[in-house]
Amino acid sequence: MKHVRLRPALSTLPPYVPGARVPVGAAAFKLSSNENPYPPLPSVVAAIADGAVDVNRYPDMYATELTEAVAAHLGVQPDQVVAGTGSVAVLSHILSAFCDAGDQVVYPWRSFEAYPIAVTLAGAQSVQVPVQADGRLDLPAMAAAVTDRTRVVLVCTPNNPTGPAVRADELETFLAAVPSDVLVVLDEAYVEFVRDPQAPDGPTVLAAHPNVVLLRTFSKAYGLAGLRVGFAVADARLAAGIRSASTPFGVSHLAQLAGVASLRATDELLDRVDRIVAERTRLLTGLREQGWQVPDSQANFVWLPLGDDAMRFAQQATAAGVLVRPFAGDGVRVSVGEPEATDVVLRVTGDFGR
Ligand code: PMP
Repeated sequence: MKHVRLRPALSTLPPYVPGARVPVGAAAFKLSSNENPYPPLPSVVAAIADGAVDVNRYPDMYATELTEAVAAHLGVQPDQVVAGTGSVAVLSHILSAFCDAGDQVVYPWRSFEAYPIAVTLAGAQSVQVPVQADGRLDLPAMAAAVTDRTRVVLVCTPNNPTGPAVRADELETFLAAVPSDVLVVLDEAYVEFVRDPQAPDGPTVLAAHPNVVLLRTFSKAYGLAGLRVGFAVADARLAAGIRSASTPFGVSHLAQLAGVASLRATDELLDRVDRIVAERTRLLTGLREQGWQVPDSQANFVWLPLGDDAMRFAQQATAAGVLVRPFAGDGVRVSVGEPEATDVVLRVTGDFGR
C-alpha cells in the first residue's frame, strides 16, 4: 500500500525546544523563554476583558487600530506595518513572500532557533555564519556569504541567545556591502532592552535602506507573549507583499486590543523594562565578579558559554528552583527575571564547579 508522504525536509528540521515550564504546584522561577516576569498592567487586562465578549466574531483582518498605533509610535506610515501571530509567524510570512525553492537565506549561528526551521519550511536553504567568540555577529562574514542565490539575510540584534547588539556603524558598512535587491531583516525582538548608545535605531536604518525590514514583537518588553502578536515594518511595497503572504485573521481581537492598550501604557511598561535592565546589569556584574566570562547582553537574557557543561548546569539550576534554557554542548541562556530570581541564579553560578 502506498503511504502519504511527508516532505523529506521535515525530517531534517531541528526541533524548536520550548523553554522548560514550571510543573503544576511547584515553585520555580521560569527563566527559560525570555519572557517578561511582570504580569500585564491592569489597563491591559481591562482591554482584554472588554474584548472577550466579541470572540464569536473574526478579528479585524488588517488589525487597523493596532497598525495605526504602531505606525504612530515608530514614526512610519500605517501601510508600512504588517502584524502577525507573533514575530515568529511574521518571519515565516516574510520568507514565503521573498524566497522561491532553493533560494538562500543567510543568518548568524548560533542565533534564534526558529530560523533554520522557518527557512527550511519556506523551501529555502540556510547559510549559517558563525557568531564570534564574544557572542557578536560577524557582519563582514555575513556580507561575504551573500551570493547571487541569496534573497534574505537575517540580522538578529540583540542576538538570541548570545546577547550583544550590532553597532550602527558596522551595520551601515554591512548594508553598503549587501546588494540592494537582497532583503535584510533586522530582528529586533529585544530592542527595548538595548542600552548601548552605539546601537542602531531601526526606523532610521529603514528610512535610509528600502531593502531593510524591521521585525518587532509585543512578547518581550510589552509582556504579551501569551497573546501572540508581532509585526514587520518595511517599505510599503514590500509590506504589501508580506501582508499577502500572511495568515488571514492571524492576530486575534484580544491581541489587537492588548497591543493598542500596551502602546498607550508605553511609559509604564518601559519603567518595567528599566527594572529588568537593572537586573541584567546586576546579573552580568555578579557573574563577572565570580570569574565567569560572559558576553555583553543588550537583551533580557544572559549567555553562559558552558560548552559540554550546559546540561549539567541546567540540572543544577532546576534543582535550585530556576528553569533555564540549555543548548547541549554549547551554552545556557538565562532570562533576566525578578530580583529574587537573580539572587538564585547567582547562587547557582557561584556554586557551580567548573
Ligand atoms: N525573534 C527573536 C530573536 C526571538 O528571540 C523571538 C522569541 N523567542 C522571536 C523573534 C519571536 O517572538 P514572538 O513570536 O513571540 O513575537
